[in-house]
Amino acid sequence: MFCCTFDQGQWQNPRIAAYGPISLDPSAKVFHYGQAIFEGMKAFKDDNNDVFLFRPDQNIKRFNKSASRLAIPEFPEDLFLEALKTLIDLDRNWVKSGHGHALYIRPFVIATENGVAASPSARYEFMIVLSPVTAYYSEKLKVLIADHYSRAADGGVGFAKAAGNYAAQFYPTNLAREKGYHQVIWTDANSHEFLEEAGTMNVFFRIGDTLITAPTSDRILDGVTRKSLIDLAREMHIEVSVRKFSVTELMEAHNSGDLKEIFGSGTAATISAVSAFGHKDQLYTLPELTDSYADRLKKALQDIQYNRATDPFGWRVKI
Ligand SMILES: *Cc1c(COP(=O)(O)O)cnc(C)c1O
Repeated sequence: MFCCTFDQGQWQNPRIAAYGPISLDPSAKVFHYGQAIFEGMKAFKDDNNDVFLFRPDQNIKRFNKSASRLAIPEFPEDLFLEALKTLIDLDRNWVKSGHGHALYIRPFVIATENGVAASPSARYEFMIVLSPVTAYYSEKLKVLIADHYSRAADGGVGFAKAAGNYAAQFYPTNLAREKGYHQVIWTDANSHEFLEEAGTMNVFFRIGDTLITAPTSDRILDGVTRKSLIDLAREMHIEVSVRKFSVTELMEAHNSGDLKEIFGSGTAATISAVSAFGHKDQLYTLPELTDSYADRLKKALQDIQYNRATDPFGWRVKI
């Protein structure tokens, strides 16, 4: 693992150590005020045993946006990239090549200053830990459209990868699970009318031959997978409309037969297709498609990630 300490107003003592427990005072501020943010990214290995990161600059920039919003000092971008490259190079044998295999990378920061006064910490620990991950069979998702709970609010921290965002999702997600759903489709907190995210993924709707996804905002996380899929879809001559999309429009499209696909996008699963959605105690099933946009886009993105295709956008970074 990589560690670096913020103290006396600066990041210092960058070091790589064996993965293991860390020791913190029980009054460390992270435990009381939740100053904690993270990133999620992956490294991929091709058939020549070369290892690649995917758009690490995007994760690094987003990390610092999350940091600012939580009053955490930003981490120097060049040191961040160097730490990633050095650590992954050391652990490159943990990355298996081949479909679905990857090295999951989890950079994070926690507030470590002692004291129970509610104010930003003066000390932080930045860390990067790694774990090999493998392809798992992912069932299509049944999702429930939120009509009471919210993930994010205007002016809040929804755009940040703040640890507390995830804690706040667990309870409503458990309630949805008890009703037989896998995930919640989050809607805007004011009206529960606009469809925003699927669980911890961005969400796309295919209406006819057009893909629709919500614009990013202070409520919606600016996913690297989301923006890469938008670029790839346009390159494949699929029309993409980035706009607000409402529950009413979704229902109309379902009733008219124009609703073809719903899928979530994120680093963990790349794309997760939705088989059915629930709204106010009614279940609506999506058609089974043989040539889905979800499958086509997932293949196109993974071909770039695993160095099986040219990289027209310059997204791969070789370690
Ligand atoms: C991380 C995350 C995503 C996906 O972002 P990627 O960069 O594509 O992995 C989407 N929504 C939320 C809420 C997230 O935390």
